[in-house]
Amino acid sequence: MVEAVTRPTRLEISKGAVAHNIRTVKDVSGADKVFLTVKSNAYGMGLVPMAQAAVAGGVYGLGVAVLDEALALRHQRITAPILILGISPVQYAELMAVQHIMATVVSLDWLRIAEENLTGEQPLPVTIGIDTGMGRIGFRDRDTLAEAIQFVRNHNDKFEYVGLSTHFAESDSADTRYFEMQLERWHQLTDGLPKPKYYHVANSGATMYHATEVPHEVVRVGTVIYGVEPSRGELADGKNLRPVMALRSEINFVKRLPAGEGISYSHKYTTSTDEWIGTVPIGYGDGWVRKLMGFNVIIDGQYAPIVGQVAMDQLMIRLPHEYPEGTTVTLIGKDGGLENTIEDVAQHADLAPWEVTTGLQARIHRVLVN
Ligand SMILES: *Cc1c(COP(=O)(O)O)cnc(C)c1O
Repeated sequence: MVEAVTRPTRLEISKGAVAHNIRTVKDVSGADKVFLTVKSNAYGMGLVPMAQAAVAGGVYGLGVAVLDEALALRHQRITAPILILGISPVQYAELMAVQHIMATVVSLDWLRIAEENLTGEQPLPVTIGIDTGMGRIGFRDRDTLAEAIQFVRNHNDKFEYVGLSTHFAESDSADTRYFEMQLERWHQLTDGLPKPKYYHVANSGATMYHATEVPHEVVRVGTVIYGVEPSRGELADGKNLRPVMALRSEINFVKRLPAGEGISYSHKYTTSTDEWIGTVPIGYGDGWVRKLMGFNVIIDGQYAPIVGQVAMDQLMIRLPHEYPEGTTVTLIGKDGGLENTIEDVAQHADLAPWEVTTGLQARIHRVLVN
């Protein structure tokens, strides 16, 4: 997809806010090494610029969902450790080894086939994934897990035994029963087995609220570093986190309309009096969904509602008064005393916060700011 760099619409990533949140996570949890999950285009914010901001801001490594994301980072000369969180097709084992990309391994068959395919020129770093109750991927019984670890250690010319991991299904709510059940299973499955270089089990919730209960020297986090309080206010207020992204554009057409004029497809909005209407070059083709009709964007420190249907590439807002073309419009972020958060947008659109941002299309230009 084409990235529209000639259009004023852009997603800004604040390097300072990313670094601040990394420090906060380390302070709160005592974590020494942070893997920032940059899967799905860094939760939609921009894979490469976010990885650059994170490495500069003090993360140890990066977590991705699929090998292609890891290769895209290597292609941009990002040399930090990369962990693939999902299952990688085994035929790419040698490519991962050569690129120093850590595989998550969740079956003995995978290890056996990889062992045959690996040249041993570079050992493949592996983390062994354990399913303690997420029900997604990972070993679920101790014997097979022990066998997998043994296999890795027996073939230390081909593999490097780097990690043991699990993932929590619920670590960010006041009801901790499910979390505790998973933690208990973790101990049942792993206590007494050969130790890897590190355990990494904590996502944002476990890192922020359960650090003393889980191995937390190495954590894998996205949400908190991206400035979203994982429990949505239930367990903390999130005031020590800073929003890391802003979505901004400009009005590129301004007009005054008399009462009774329809705006956009199907005329879902009709002016009720003399109104100043501004056009903004962003639409549902950018992932700014049609449910956001009626949402207040910010112009010159004042709210301006989106009026009429959001079109594919453009939308209209009702201005407080006349503004010149080129005036900045803030869809997400701060302007003057006002702020729209990702959560505000999510709530209006009836989506989860990361559904909003992962939906922001590649056409939106991503830029790093201080
Ligand atoms: C996405 C993901 C994380 C990070 O989760 P957050 O809640 O955003 O911190 C950690 N581990 C795995 C396996 C993941 O898929």
